[in-house]
Amino acid sequence: MARFQPVSSFQPVAEELVLLPLRFERTKDARFIVSNLVGDLITLSEQQLREVVSLNLDPGSDLYALASEKFLVMKKGSRASLQLLAMRLRSRMAFLQHPTQLHILVVTLRCEHSCPYCQVSRQSTDRGRYDMPWETAVRAVEVALSTPSKYIKLEFQGGEPLLNFELIERIVPHAKKRAKTLDKELQFVITTNLALLDEHVLAFCLTEDIQISTSLDGPADLHNRNRPRPGGNSHQLAIAGIRRAQAVLGKHRVGALMTTTEQSLGRVEEIVDEYIRLEMDGIFLRPLSPYGFAVKTKQFFRYDAGEWLRFYEQGLRYILKINRDGRYFPEFYAALILRRMLTDRRIGYVDLRSPAGIGLGALVYNYDGKVFASDEGRMLAEMGDRSFELGALEGATYVSLILSDKLVDMVSASLTQCAPQCSTCVFEPHCGADPVYHHATQGDPVGIKPLSEFCARQKGIMTLLMRLLEESPEDAAILRRWAA
Ligand code: SF4
Repeated sequence: MARFQPVSSFQPVAEELVLLPLRFERTKDARFIVSNLVGDLITLSEQQLREVVSLNLDPGSDLYALASEKFLVMKKGSRASLQLLAMRLRSRMAFLQHPTQLHILVVTLRCEHSCPYCQVSRQSTDRGRYDMPWETAVRAVEVALSTPSKYIKLEFQGGEPLLNFELIERIVPHAKKRAKTLDKELQFVITTNLALLDEHVLAFCLTEDIQISTSLDGPADLHNRNRPRPGGNSHQLAIAGIRRAQAVLGKHRVGALMTTTEQSLGRVEEIVDEYIRLEMDGIFLRPLSPYGFAVKTKQFFRYDAGEWLRFYEQGLRYILKINRDGRYFPEFYAALILRRMLTDRRIGYVDLRSPAGIGLGALVYNYDGKVFASDEGRMLAEMGDRSFELGALEGATYVSLILSDKLVDMVSASLTQCAPQCSTCVFEPHCGADPVYHHATQGDPVGIKPLSEFCARQKGIMTLLMRLLEESPEDAAILRRWAA
């Protein structure tokens, strides 16, 4: 009598498999990036992909294990895989349970800078009719606080909001009082170029717990060229303002954004060094947007997605080196995308969402009482295109704005989950519908994605991040830490 069972008894039993939803895209080196329903990304050879989609998988093989683990296939009739996928999808879409947390008040359109890439079409300082009146601000706060979310961020923008600082001084205590009665928690941000920052403004920000967000484009010559003002001292004032604000409010209460112009290309390391020198906690490498003076002065057309991606990669590699040398310093856009790619956590960033973040993620109350679905929407309005204007504050409620036909149409038309190109794109779970960008550049909220610079940049960045995650374990560990 045999003491052992035959070998065949120890081999895995072939199971009937079914294919789960997946997307794939050929890479330049003739391999395939493959993603499942929730965007877990792997790279396969053509042969491996063929075996997966034809369900020609040997039980017990590495490919069988990988395809099961990555939810590309499952056992027929298995509910566990579907339940897990559904749970992860729900978690990724949880941003829909937190409606409109960001409310932007454009307290003035006046500004003392005259940046040729200005996206808001600022007005000169003497034009008081571009200031938001008190009654409009009060109404904006009422609508913002009627949002179902408990946590509301009120951001003061311009123009240069410090040119109408009296309004901010009145509106902050008023909003806090109203929030207390309604059991809401408020956060405040002033987006300012800091040129008008003084002790009085700083003391107010400290007392009222207000964060500062500013613009810093790099070293002095580059910044001053991008951001002209009388006296040519924008950089000097910004640096002095950042240092004073850091000292009074704390480093974590002061953030800065840079904008990439044609002059920035080739200087990314100097730009990053400037942020390091100022002890900022990271950098957001941002391309120009197609709005306002950036279009009128043709700044927007001076470089394309390919040139920008080269700039971005050089910057990201340099930033990784800084991290390898021991300084934690994330590139914020990469961190946002990595969070999408490597975790199922919801993210607050409105441009990386589908359904789009217009209205649902942010509302903008303009100085003249008009309400817009996004900051870029009000920028378009200053150019004469009112497509993203949802109505007037007078008589509006949060519900009437959010359920307006215009917004519902734009959001439903632009869903990446069913838009041409996006619905089959391997990066769709990590991308976003950006109807304002595509409306501005192609006259259509969906857009033709192969012609879209937004799409080219998104694909370029995500492919680069995948490559970096695979290239070196040390860089992968850094990138994973950014996503945490
Ligand atoms: S915009 Fe481009 S990268 Fe983003 S999901 Fe659509 S096709 Fe993919």
